[in-house]
Amino acid sequence: MSEVETLACGILERKLRPLAKGITLIESKNPEHNQAANQLLEKILPHTGNSVRIGISGVPGVGKSTFIEAFGKHLTSQGHRVAVLAVDPTSQITGGSILGDKTRMEELARDENAFIRPSPAGATLGGVARKTRETMLLCEAAGYDVILIETVGVGQSEITVASMVDFFMLLQLANAGDELQGIKKGVMEIADAIIINKAEGSNRLRAEVAAQQYVNALHILRPKSPNWQVPVKLCSAMYKEGISEIWEMVCDYRQKLTNSGEFDEKRRKQSVDWFWTLLMDDLKDMFLSNRNVESMFESVREAVEKGVLPPAAASKRLLELFKRH
Ligand code: GDP
Repeated sequence: MSEVETLACGILERKLRPLAKGITLIESKNPEHNQAANQLLEKILPHTGNSVRIGISGVPGVGKSTFIEAFGKHLTSQGHRVAVLAVDPTSQITGGSILGDKTRMEELARDENAFIRPSPAGATLGGVARKTRETMLLCEAAGYDVILIETVGVGQSEITVASMVDFFMLLQLANAGDELQGIKKGVMEIADAIIINKAEGSNRLRAEVAAQQYVNALHILRPKSPNWQVPVKLCSAMYKEGISEIWEMVCDYRQKLTNSGEFDEKRRKQSVDWFWTLLMDDLKDMFLSNRNVESMFESVREAVEKGVLPPAAASKRLLELFKRH
């Protein structure tokens, strides 16, 4: 058996060490490892897809890790196996990953039916997302049937995570001053549910008011699916209130969209979109590392900058150089 085959077997047998080794291959920058990672992914692909993929987002401090810990524990207590992954493109800049950190989810980290993997390091969101997506497939092959992907509530990373999950939930606070902060960023359009966290005690009433504002705002948006009206739920991750209802909501979503055929359709579309993204990324890499292009790139770029070469002509010139080789 080849090394990759041994690894694939180990992963399918749900062994942790081969899973970790597989993820390390995926995250490696070494081209040889890359090739092995691709072989591994091809081997395990028939054993993937048997999970519910859930994206969880929200600004720092909203309670994502507290929520994931409570939600994850609830799921494992029901017999599920949960993998927690993260997409944090800033992890390299800050010198360590903030998201999916084991020390932030101590109880879940000790649970033998949970697997927590911090965000891979990477300079670009695209790179981080690629690795997380592939890691998700390995986790599915290793028998994790709920995948939670955490991301920060800033910018493009939410849209990227939404494009790789079945269900995307946005965690919000009732007392953020500007209740409808999500709308501005366009994030509400991609959310399948809005969860207002810390909705306990004296905060409960404010959370209910905020929830109603969200419900009103959601009515204005065109629904993503004719079979799903985006719910607004209240929870308290800290006091473990509203957690089981949120899981029931995800199950309800899966049931409804599976019945209508949308669930599988969405995954098929995500796969094809993903294929296009990878193809374009690889093409770009290939182009930029082409020797002819590389030797001329800077001077052409400068000519465009100085206004002596029209951008269209510059692009054509480099493409000609690329094609020649
Ligand atoms: P993250 O940055 O989004 O991952 O947020 P954390 O999970 O680290 O939580 C930020 C702070 O909010 C921590 O001090 C938590 O203890 C607290 N917190 C999280 N969930 C709740 C909740 O439901 N109620 C209250 N009162 N505090 C919470």
